[in-house]
Amino acid sequence: MVETIFDKIIAGDLPADKVYEDENVLAFRDINPQAPIHILVVPKKKVKDFIEIQHNDTTQTGIFFNAVSKVASVMGLEESGYRIVLNCGKNGQQTVEYLHAHILGERKMNWPPG
Ligand code: 5GP
Repeated sequence: MVETIFDKIIAGDLPADKVYEDENVLAFRDINPQAPIHILVVPKKKVKDFIEIQHNDTTQTGIFFNAVSKVASVMGLEESGYRIVLNCGKNGQQTVEYLHAHILGERKMNWPPG
């Protein structure tokens, strides 16, 4: 797999504005925020994209989604709500080939998405 910016952030070779970390995930602010709160959650054990999830251990997947939910709560978004985005592949406009969930909050989201 190609080394991405998120590999470097997890390795500590690139700085990031971290908001949460445990043994399984790292969460940090997006460099180009699309909402007042815009967090990226990445699994420390690399997964390339959402397509790969179907081949993975469900425990690993469950741990990731539990952590995404926890990070949203840590950011104080439980009451107001938030949006989770998982861009996948070319049409999904995924730009970093390392699975990541976007947590967007503190503004009302639009639907349908662009
Ligand atoms: P994607 O388009 O792959 O779903 O999302 C990648 C996200 O990573 C984008 O929202 C982009 O702003 C963010 N990003 C790209 N490079 C960096 C970086 O070096 N640091 C941080 N914190 N975010 C980045």
